[in-house]
Amino acid sequence: MNKGLYIHIPFCQRKCRYCDFFSVTDLTLAEDYIKALIRNIKAYGETFNTVYFGGGTPSLLTAGQIYDILSAANITTNAEISMECNPNSADKKYLSELRTTEVNRLSFGIQSLNDNELHALGRLHNSAEAIAAVQNAHAAGFENISADLMLATPGQTMNSLNDTIERLCQLPLTHISAYMLKIETGTPLAADEKLLQTLPDDDEEAEMYLLTVNLLKEKGFAQYEISNFAKAEHECRHNLKYWHCEEYLGIGTGAHSYLNGVRFEVPKNMEDFLKSERQQEVITDSVPGSLSERLMLALRLSEGFPISEAEEYANKLISAAAPMEKAGLLKISEDRIALTPEGFLVSNEIILRLTESI
Ligand code: SF4
Repeated sequence: MNKGLYIHIPFCQRKCRYCDFFSVTDLTLAEDYIKALIRNIKAYGETFNTVYFGGGTPSLLTAGQIYDILSAANITTNAEISMECNPNSADKKYLSELRTTEVNRLSFGIQSLNDNELHALGRLHNSAEAIAAVQNAHAAGFENISADLMLATPGQTMNSLNDTIERLCQLPLTHISAYMLKIETGTPLAADEKLLQTLPDDDEEAEMYLLTVNLLKEKGFAQYEISNFAKAEHECRHNLKYWHCEEYLGIGTGAHSYLNGVRFEVPKNMEDFLKSERQQEVITDSVPGSLSERLMLALRLSEGFPISEAEEYANKLISAAAPMEKAGLLKISEDRIALTPEGFLVSNEIILRLTESI
């Protein structure tokens, strides 16, 4: 089966105040990093039907560099090739150049269309730049465009979130991802006590999530995963591979893979990766794909878990799920168990109870 290819681009212009992802701001390393990516992609020699450039900020690379990286990979025709973009590093000229590469899906890190909220998060763009970036991408010929939206951010209210979603939905988007802000220890945001006091409380967080699910549904974006919403036939094929427990190769510092029956990760060590002919693989799971893991991943999806996959445990699973169905947290149909939006709010607890039952 063809696999997914994840390419990690660990460069950012400046760190956002909430972010603890591995990325560096020294762009002088980019050329050597790209050479290492190309050597590594060739070393594995796999064939891919989805590619995802994540980061970091992949749009800090030139269209020529993206082209060179893609040229090193065996990619099937009709592959989905996604790239994360920051609105401030994707102007009209850049997007037109990018359209000449095989990239056919963009994912913009918009987060909010409220300038005060963007400022509190330490994002480099404002709302006008975010809107222009999506419009410019569409004008350049990109038809599959996603936006990231952040929930429960400092100063965010139900009204401001409603306004952001309303305005996002007027843009030519086919997909929206909505994530709850997590306050990560060690980030500037975690140390900003004044700003932390403006965070929505737990009840407001839950209301914000349900508002997002309902409003997006009304606007034609169906929920297909806890945090992901798409217009018909525009679910992210690459990310679906993760939840369907399919294999993918991750290349670059800190990238994760599920390849040839094992899960491994690459150390977050720039120096080692720059020298590598084949990246270091640290095995994290030598027997992946267990029933519990497949259950845990499938329950993140609105389509849910196919009970036939756990035939011998079906009765136990259904008994454990029944009280939660009564509470409106999940639905049991003839062959599937699927969480409701209310269930997604407490998904960790539900997944734990169901995995313990088998
Ligand atoms: S652009 Fe993305 S990866 Fe870079 S610092 Fe901001 S949130 Fe983190």
